[in-house]
Formats: sequence, structure tokens, C-alpha cells
Amino acid sequence: MDVRAQVSMMFHLDKCIGCHTCSIACKNIWTDRQGTEYMWWNNVETKPGTGYPTKWEDQEKYKGGWEPISNSVKLKATDKLRGLTNIFHQPHLPTIDDYYEPWTYKYEDLFNAPAGDDQPTARPISLITGEHIDINAGPNWDDDLSGSGIYARNDPNLDDITEAEKQVLFEIERLVFFYVPRICNHCLNPACVASCPSGALYKRGEDGIVLLDQNTCRAWRFCISACPYKKSYYNWSTGKSEKCILCYPRLESGQPPACFHSCVGRIRYLGIVLYDADKIEATASASEEDLVDLQKEMVLDPFDPEVIKQAEKNGVHFSIIEAAQKSPVYKFLKVWNLALPLHPEFRTLPMLFYIPPLLPVLGHVDNGIYNIDAEGYFGNLDKARVPMKYMANLFTAGDEEKVRNVLEKLLAVRLYKRAEQVNDISPDLVKEALEKTGLTPEMCEDIYRLTALPTYEERFMVPPMLREYAAEAIMGDPYSFKAEAGVGGFKGRPERGL
Ligand code: SF4
Ligand code: SF4
Repeated sequence: MDVRAQVSMMFHLDKCIGCHTCSIACKNIWTDRQGTEYMWWNNVETKPGTGYPTKWEDQEKYKGGWEPISNSVKLKATDKLRGLTNIFHQPHLPTIDDYYEPWTYKYEDLFNAPAGDDQPTARPISLITGEHIDINAGPNWDDDLSGSGIYARNDPNLDDITEAEKQVLFEIERLVFFYVPRICNHCLNPACVASCPSGALYKRGEDGIVLLDQNTCRAWRFCISACPYKKSYYNWSTGKSEKCILCYPRLESGQPPACFHSCVGRIRYLGIVLYDADKIEATASASEEDLVDLQKEMVLDPFDPEVIKQAEKNGVHFSIIEAAQKSPVYKFLKVWNLALPLHPEFRTLPMLFYIPPLLPVLGHVDNGIYNIDAEGYFGNLDKARVPMKYMANLFTAGDEEKVRNVLEKLLAVRLYKRAEQVNDISPDLVKEALEKTGLTPEMCEDIYRLTALPTYEERFMVPPMLREYAAEAIMGDPYSFKAEAGVGGFKGRPERGL
């Protein structure tokens, strides 16, 4: 058992209101510079939809992530041989049109235009060429347009959904959508790190944040192809790639990242988890149906004396272990089994998890009685207007049962609280719902508390960043100069770059 600490995240999608405050907070701090205009390290997309860059989930197009090969994995976009022999050839990079051409408006025309019959206007101009452009795309161009033919219908997650289910989904009067905020997942098996011929990307030893060394980057842009989430970007002005740094300077001063801090819906949670790094290769190469369970199994019980002993042996400070014991992410992920990774089939082992939304699964009140139809209290889940298969394609590599389990628990908590506060559901029914989902009244109270009423400190268990103890473990790939140099306390682990 090789116990490491990882800052991990959880987003509760039922709470996201799609306000984009998170994206703006990040933009103002990190990507408000020349060359970064089109970058949104944090973006929020409407689902169903094609996202940013467009159709990023389509790995036939972009070849991101890993594919399994006899008990191991290899990068889809490139491997050692292809990378070195073909270093100038990057056929799967997104183009600026896949993102969008960033623009501003020529505001000075409003003041400087000569007097005339027509009112002056501020026309859009490209932030790349400085020329006038007609705007036809943006980072959230499909916001709330789930029912439109251009966006939702081209969502790659709909590929294996029946025509009948699609018809229900797109009936305009039954239009339904939800938001998926996305940042870099600071993966345990980061494809970006393993793909970089220069060894510029690395995973910080003490907290697992994935960083990109600007001095080492040589603009090969392999990380951009390799990241299946398209969360590494190329800065055309500096000639270097860039990515989300999880606001590590803020974390080091005890503050959560800006997108977390500013989140209006309070959907975001952050905490440390301890995991077993010995299981990275076996987990990443597992069969699709086992990926979610095995990734959760990698996350260890921070109260287990053996885990604590091994963690301390690896140099994890006890204050970090204490932070892991209070981590809200650990509770959602392991104690209550409510959180799921986004596209586990990309095999990067993302450490940002999501609670899938219940969406419009609602009962109604008849004559003062909460109506639960004859199919039973969970029957409504099958009438959810986003098909279960669609949710499964997003969060469980297609396993509908795993999504259903999470949604049943969320519904059981709602029934429990409704019975308590509105008193129009029979106690027997609530008891049955809890038994079916394996929840206890105490768990329902805890889930309700951490979902609906959490304090700032409960949402963000920012670990103490003990830089003086930090060992720079390099999750380097076989080409990484740093991995070869064995920088830091974790030498001789080239397999960590899988
Ligand atoms: S592979 Fe994972 S760690 Fe690397 S940029 Fe993509 S999401 Fe981030
Ligand atoms: S700030 Fe929070 S609620 Fe608003 S879009 Fe971002 S994640 Fe959603």
C-alpha cells in the first residue's frame, strides 16, 4: 500500500444554477492576459449539449485519454515511439473554431464616431486578428439551448440512446437541461503528464495538484491532445501551454480556489483524500464496468490505523491525515456513495466527482397528500426526462444501475425530510425507502446538512499546506527529465506516469 494525499473536489449538480460566476472569477484571476483570451480553465456547459471545445467528449475526433492493453494502458493520441518519431505531427488538436474566436467590442466608436444620421455602434472585433468578425460561437454559446437541433442533438452521450428516448428529451414543451461545471480533474493517472515529451507537466507530491512548468514547456502541445477533458490549453502569445492550477497560491494561504469560493449555488466541495497509488495501473486498465468501483476503492479510510501508519511512512503529515478525516469529498464519495467521476472510461482517474442531478423528479400534492404513484416512490425516476442511459454515459461508463442507486438515495433523503417537515408521507413509506437504499435517519440528516446547510468550513476543508514538508513527487512519464532525475522523495516510480 503506497498511501498518498490528493486534493479532490465534488460538485453537486442539482445545486448548479448555471450563473457562470465561477468561470468569471477564474478568468479575472488567471486568464485575463494576451494569448489566453479563448481559455476558460473553469467553464460551465449545458447538458445535453456539445460543450467547450465543441464535442470534447468525442474521442474518435480528439483521441484523448487512455486505452487498455493487457493489464495496462496506453495513450490514445500518442505513445513513446509515435511521440518521438512524429513530434511535429498533431492531427487531433482542437482548432480555434472548436473553441471559439475570442472577441471584444470596439467601444471607442461609441465616442469617436463622427456626427451622422445613424447612432454609432460598437462592432465586435477579433481578439486575435483585431479585425471585425461576425460572432458565431462562444464558450457557452449553447447555454440553456438544450432542445435546439444544433447543440443537444450532437451531444456524443446521446449516440446509443433510442430515437423514442430522444424524442421525449427534445420535445420542446418538455425541454429539460442541467449544467456541468468543469475544471481540470487533477487526475491520478493524468494523460497530460504522461504525454509531455519535455516533462513539463508534473503532479505535486504533497497534494496531487497537476502543474505545468512554464520554463520547461516547449509547446509540443501533446498535453492538449492527450487530455480527454481538453483542460490544457495553448497560449499563442507566450508559446507555452497552460492549465488550471487549482489556485494553489490560494490553497497555500488557506483559501479555497476562486471558482469554489465564488460559487453562488454553493455546489462545490473540496477536501483531501488518501489513496493507494499502488492501484493506479490496475484500476486504470480495469474493464469498463469495474472502473467506478475500483477508483472508489483506491480512496482509503483515513481513520484506518494501517492507512495512517503507511501514510506517515510516506511522509504525509498528520495534520493532512486529520484534514482527510474531515473531508466532505470523502463523505460524499465513500461514506454515502453519492459521487461519481465524469467519463471514467477515459481512464485518467479524475479526482473531481459529481453528484448527478435528480432533475424534475418530483411528486405532486393531491388534497394535502403527497402523491406517490402506483409504481412506487422510485417509479418517477424512470420518467425522468433525461434518460438514465444518458446520465450513465456521463458518469458511469454506461452503467445505469450505478446512477440509479445514487438517484434513489437522493430521492430517499427528500422523502425523509418531507415526511419530517411537511408531514404528508407515511412513516412506513419512508422506512421502506431508507431500507431499500441502505440509508439511516442519521445519514439522511448528515446528507441534508452537508447538501443544504453547510458552512464555508464544512464545504472547504483546505488542508494545511506544509511546504516545508512537501516532497515533490513527480508523476512523470518515461520521458520526463524530472522523473529520470528522481527529484524529491519518491524516486524510482516511473510507472506512476501511466
Ligand atoms: S488529463 Fe486530467 S490532470 Fe491532465 S489536464 Fe486533463 S483533466 Fe487535468
Ligand atoms: S458559480 Fe456555482 S452555481 Fe454558478 S455556474 Fe458556477 S458552479 Fe454553477
